[in-house]
Amino acid sequence: MDGATSSGRRLQRPVPGLITQFHPFSIARLPRIEFGSGAFSRTAELTRRFGKHALIVTGARSFPASERWAQLLQQFSTLDISYDHVTIDGEPSPEMIDDAVKEHASANIDVVVGIGGGSAMDAAKAIAGLLGVGQSVMDFLEGVGPELPYKGPAVPLIAVPTTAGTGSEATKNAVLSKQGEDGFKKSFRDDRLVAEVAIVDPDLLSSCPRDVIAANGMDALTQLIESYVSIKANVFNDALGISGLRAARDGLVRLYQSAGADTDARERMAYASLISGINLAQTGLGSVHGMASPLGAFYPIPHGVVCGTLVAAATRTNINAMLEREPENAAIDRYARVSEVLSQRRFKSIDEVLDKLVELLQQWTYDLKLERLSTYGLTPSALDHVVEHSRGSSMKTNPIVLTDEEIKSILIERM
Ligand code: NAD
Repeated sequence: MDGATSSGRRLQRPVPGLITQFHPFSIARLPRIEFGSGAFSRTAELTRRFGKHALIVTGARSFPASERWAQLLQQFSTLDISYDHVTIDGEPSPEMIDDAVKEHASANIDVVVGIGGGSAMDAAKAIAGLLGVGQSVMDFLEGVGPELPYKGPAVPLIAVPTTAGTGSEATKNAVLSKQGEDGFKKSFRDDRLVAEVAIVDPDLLSSCPRDVIAANGMDALTQLIESYVSIKANVFNDALGISGLRAARDGLVRLYQSAGADTDARERMAYASLISGINLAQTGLGSVHGMASPLGAFYPIPHGVVCGTLVAAATRTNINAMLEREPENAAIDRYARVSEVLSQRRFKSIDEVLDKLVELLQQWTYDLKLERLSTYGLTPSALDHVVEHSRGSSMKTNPIVLTDEEIKSILIERM
């Protein structure tokens, strides 16, 4: 690791074994999960269990142009399910949600089916939450507006991811953004927004372009790492998190290299993404997602690119800050465990194992060709503005409170 700490202090103690601290935890509702190749073919049947009139929310292009769309509509017709269709072009804004809700509020929708990447699933989640409520989503967004308590009811939601991914099929929040200088990227969050059913069919990843595989895969990996070292980490999510990290380790680069063709890699990444969503909903995230909020609001940067480009630098900064100021912080051992899982090696000292983690993440950032932030217009003069808006909900569960200068240094490293 380049310059581990400014004082050069390192930890030579041995790497600990399994981490099993029984801190209190609470687990929000999970969806019924249908996982596996071919699961998509059960979408109509599962939809029918909630009623006869569905609102389908998809992205604007790739899914509606695919053969699966025609197959789904055929199955709907066979099961006597009528449907309305909303398309979401790009990452969803509050305006898109309010418009869709207005248009369909009186249509007696029994169930919302969101099929797509995080954008379509989040839009579906927010629309399902508001169809029966009669208020703007701005009333409920965190950190902007009046932040009124959400009381529901939410229309049942079926979430079908086509990227791996965001894990939105298992989370209780929908991320909405307004782009521009006065923009924001914030969550509408409530346990009642969790999907009733998540249909995770790895075959749906086969059409993902390489850049989407890289960005979304790094988003899932970042979510797995940040949830594992979060101040809310707990034994329940640890068990899932390790299995998710193993799946991402074995799937991500292979899925990228095969451009979506490797079926085993598809399964691993679909699983890694699902677990990243389950875990983040319970433990929260960290500094990468803290910075992703203003970066995604002020610049047209895909969410996964932000995560992928920042995760190595942010991990190193967290580790260095803890070695420097909080050498007893439990997240140091947690990062060590992540490193051993990802590198499939045991190390003699904490020092070595932490170096290895940063090196691995840097290698993946390079191999997966994650672009730098300046490509999307970030300039040195805007750094303070980004730092100022980075202390939202994700930053609050980062394992150590970073200084403004530390956050800035992460951004500078990936300009
Ligand atoms: P996305 O949904 O914006 O999709 C990216 C692109 O990939 C789009 O052009 C889409 O059409 C295309 N695409 C999707 N699936 C495809 C497929 N199978 N084949 C071909 N093309 C396909 O990207 P995303 O990264 O999945 O989602 C990003 C959004 O999710 C952001 O708004 C982010 O903030 C949000 N997010 C939400 C959560 C949550 O818990 N709710 C977690 C992480 C991220």
